[in-house]
Amino acid sequence: MRVTVYGARSYDRQFLTAANAAYGHDLIFLDAGLDAQTFPLAAGSDGICVFVNDCLDAGVIDGLSALGVRIVALRCAGYNNVDLAAAARHGIVVTRVPAYSPHAVAEFTVGLLLALDRKIHRAWSRVRENNYALDGLVGRNLHGRVAGIVGTGEIGALVARALRAGFGCEVLASDPVRDPPLEAIGVRYVPIDTLLREADIVSLHCPLTPETYHLIDAPVLAQARPGLTIVNTSRGALIDTSALIDALKARRVGGVALDVYEQEAGIFFGDLSNEIIDDDVLQRLLTFPNVLVTGHQAFLTEEALSAIAGTTLDSLARFERGEPLPYQLAAPSAA
Ligand code: NAD
Repeated sequence: MRVTVYGARSYDRQFLTAANAAYGHDLIFLDAGLDAQTFPLAAGSDGICVFVNDCLDAGVIDGLSALGVRIVALRCAGYNNVDLAAAARHGIVVTRVPAYSPHAVAEFTVGLLLALDRKIHRAWSRVRENNYALDGLVGRNLHGRVAGIVGTGEIGALVARALRAGFGCEVLASDPVRDPPLEAIGVRYVPIDTLLREADIVSLHCPLTPETYHLIDAPVLAQARPGLTIVNTSRGALIDTSALIDALKARRVGGVALDVYEQEAGIFFGDLSNEIIDDDVLQRLLTFPNVLVTGHQAFLTEEALSAIAGTTLDSLARFERGEPLPYQLAAPSAA
């Protein structure tokens, strides 16, 4: 099948090309992401392959349908960027990769937390200048602190386990679905309000939905424990970034580690080091000594990229053969 791959980075090309040896799809790699300007580049393709920040709103989907695109294969888990109702109206099938390597994201989450807490990123840049002074690098033990895990699905459960069994944190969790094996190691499910009030560390692992949009907002930050550490490797819009900046300026928040940012589309995944960035919110965030930002790289391991490529190409092949699609997303009304 001919498939246009939007926003193809070097690692996408490498892992999709390697996995495609077993499938033989005709992959057209594009640097450009998908949006209202770039959808016509899919002309002649039966399918497209997209990532987290590609725009699949109703207008883009109308356009893709008119071009004859019949399948959208998301090479990621989250799908908040897709208008599934519009896709269903046009009979466009949407697939995703639900769990390629929860370990990749969970390990990165713990890595970010440790780097932030122990100021490893700041120590690294000091030592490169032969500055071996330790002033300003005092950290905090994880052991004994209260960690709140919002969402104990594939990724959140691994983080909860690492913090509880590995580091000896007291772990609170919030999820509509409880995980008994986590409870067996002492993870305590509590209402979300309790978690956000009592945790020293909050790590976000729930999906972005209308219910979870700006879950961390000004009232939550006002009631949180002083010195709260926040880690977000899930979706940027779970946090009201302006409210977060106000809380950082008021010295109420102790530290923030973000792999995702609510306005990351158009900024993350590209080299903008020679550009003037118009986003004042992100630029302000980067000025705080207790904020650590990475550019949506928690998934980026060899294992995860191989799994993503294999599952994505397999969905396209199954679609072509008219077989059932295990990772097809249902239209909202049928969900
Ligand atoms: P998952 O579906 O396995 O788990 C999500 C959990 O959140 C579920 O247990 C669900 O019941 C729970 N949940 C839903 N609504 C909730 C709410 N209101 N409050 C608390 N919990 C709620 O998903 P996952 O694979 O663990 O992924 C978690 C998140 O990580 C997703 O948002 C995904 O997009 C994101 N992600 C980020 C990266 C990255 O590179 N940064 C990579 C993969 C996934």
